[in-house]
Amino acid sequence: MTDPRTRELSERLAEARGRLDAALAAAGRTDEVDLVVVTKFHPVADVARLARLGVRDIGENRVQEAAAKVADLAATEPALAAGVRWNMIGHIQSNKAAAVAGWADRVHSVDSVKVADGLERGRARAEGERDGVGPLPVLLQLSLDGDTSRGGVDRGDLPALADHVAGLAHLRLAGLMVVPPLEGDPASHFADAAGVREALRRDHPAAVEFSAGMSGDLEAAIGAGSTCVRVGTAILGPRPVG
Ligand SMILES: *Cc1c(COP(=O)(O)O)cnc(C)c1O
Repeated sequence: MTDPRTRELSERLAEARGRLDAALAAAGRTDEVDLVVVTKFHPVADVARLARLGVRDIGENRVQEAAAKVADLAATEPALAAGVRWNMIGHIQSNKAAAVAGWADRVHSVDSVKVADGLERGRARAEGERDGVGPLPVLLQLSLDGDTSRGGVDRGDLPALADHVAGLAHLRLAGLMVVPPLEGDPASHFADAAGVREALRRDHPAAVEFSAGMSGDLEAAIGAGSTCVRVGTAILGPRPVG
């Protein structure tokens, strides 16, 4: 009865969960880790399939594509949509941030005061318009190599950004996110990020989340204490070009 794509997603999802469990066991960890399944470039039908398979966290990295899928799923599959937590994981232009706060359930990619302020404005508006909308959990994206053109805030600017976000009424500072630089060993990058994360947590004890690890490096990230991995290709397959 199951369509071939659902079967494929189900198998790859089980594989990814197996890798995650093995990595947790290898690290001697017994805590729970969020698996965000990244559906960028893939159709909303795949989001629906994943939700039917029990996936709660869906990740998107392009604002327009994400907003369209959120609206589409809500219109066509309202019961499934109610169980999905939409994670914005990609770069946000500050003039788009308010709109993102209208549909996102968690944002991993806050890297400037302007983006934070836009999200704050948008969330205040959403809270006023709809019941059941609370403060938006946000993570600060760290740029480890200081090349902020790839997104992220330089480590030197992180404490001030964290203090700013912590002062906003409609955002909740939830933790740190990192995409490691392309060069070098992911494990040492994650260890470096874990140190920054500890410093952040000393200043902001509620900022407990550490979003790190993708299809190619989730084991290394779990070893460094990741609480949330963002997995696309390993579950969805290669991204369609377009
Ligand atoms: C696309 C993307 C991912 C998923 O990457 P895969 O290698 O496909 O698992 C994770 N994080 C961010 C920020 C992304 O843009």
